[in-house]
Formats: sequence, structure tokens, C-alpha cells
Amino acid sequence: MAETFCAECTAASSDHSPGNISTVNGVGRQFYGAAEECPQCGSVVRTLWFTLIDVPIYPMGSYRYKSAEGKMKKGFDAWLSPKPRFWARKTALHGKQVLTTFAIGLGMVALLGGAYYVYVTFIKTR
Ligand SMILES: [Zn+2]
Repeated sequence: MAETFCAECTAASSDHSPGNISTVNGVGRQFYGAAEECPQCGSVVRTLWFTLIDVPIYPMGSYRYKSAEGKMKKGFDAWLSPKPRFWARKTALHGKQVLTTFAIGLGMVALLGGAYYVYVTFIKTR
């Protein structure tokens, strides 16, 4: 199967590929989000993040992204099961998606921090 972005998406992005995406113990690079689905080729804009313990730390860039396995999952599903096989072309950083992902990341940190607080306060010191 060849790269299957439509002419419009190809024109709005560059050939710069994100390369090999891999995470080791949650540290690495991961795609988050799915916005602006293209009616022609079905690609979506996703942002590549540097992650630490699976928490998005900073955005490395947004990409026109197309799963190699058919239609891209949307919303929360895209969070839970990022597909490893894909095509991507670099595009303009998606500001709104960056903010949304950042907010969710902060929420995760707050949850982890809260759980740790509860552990230290109520469980560890009986
Ligand atoms: Zn397209």
C-alpha cells in the first residue's frame, strides 16, 4: 500500500516524517489527539509529544496522520489505542490540540499526585 494522502493534505504538509516512534517505560515520543479529519483521504491532525511516564511534556510538532489499518479511531479511543502503523507528514502545530492534550496531561499528573498524597497520608503512615 502506498502513501494515500489526498493532494490537499499533501500540499498542506511537508515530507518530514517523525521517524520511528517508540516509548521505553513511558519515556519517549507519542502521538496524541485526532482533529480535522479530512473528508477526502480520512487523515487526521495529531500532535507528537515528548512523554515522561506516559504524560505529555512538550509538543514536538503536529502531523497529518493516517493509520495504515483503515479509518482512524476518534476521541478517547485514539488515546487508548494509538496504532503503531501509520503514515505521517509534518504540518503546522495544532495550537488547540496542544492545549487540550496539555490539560489532559496536567489532569493525569494531578491524579497521580493526589493518589500519592493519599498513599503517603493515609496508608503509609498508619
Ligand atoms: Zn486529505
